[in-house]
Amino acid sequence: MARTHGAVCKLCRREGMKLFLKGQRCFSDKCAISRRDYPPGAHSYRRGKISEYGIQLREKQKLKRIYGMLEAPFRRVFAEAERLPGNTGEHLLALLERRVDNVVLACGFALSRNHARQMIVHGHFTVNGSRMRSPSAVVRVGDSIAPGAREAIQKVVREAVEVNKAQPVPAWLQVDREGLKGSVVALPRREDVPHPIQEQLIVEICSR
Ligand code: SF4
Repeated sequence: MARTHGAVCKLCRREGMKLFLKGQRCFSDKCAISRRDYPPGAHSYRRGKISEYGIQLREKQKLKRIYGMLEAPFRRVFAEAERLPGNTGEHLLALLERRVDNVVLACGFALSRNHARQMIVHGHFTVNGSRMRSPSAVVRVGDSIAPGAREAIQKVVREAVEVNKAQPVPAWLQVDREGLKGSVVALPRREDVPHPIQEQLIVEICSR
């Protein structure tokens, strides 16, 4: 499983915004962005004016980091978005939202994206009743997602649901918190994407 190792709070500080990579810590006053709202590194304050390319690059990096993706898989999703008719940027965001790891997180079944990915890779989630081990798989309308029947995993997911109970569920998902089951009832629209991303900048840099 390819993912970012190491100090993820540095990624938020680099992007100058909360990327919400650490679950509940991101909402507490321990969040590194609240304490040190400047880029990491000894001479970060010396960096000069950012170029147009730099602005586009930062936007792309921001999106990749939010969804915990490396460059090659991100490019594959972008290529898929480009093949679809309509607005490439909106398709890109919708495809990322529909990833299984994102759906588990959005349903409130995990404490963070890395937590969701770990449980999926270990075979603790099912899609339409079949075990799903790929966090990057894309769900479709009508799919249902649920944790496996093992008592230990049910307990972990219930604890996550309790922690996330105040978290709003996106309109394109339906969640049965008692029954621990999420369903995809629509495709995500642009307004369902909760991140402040300028997708047009990403389309421009990826189309170079
Ligand atoms: Fe980012 Fe969360 Fe770390 Fe804050 S606590 S800097 S939002 S990962």
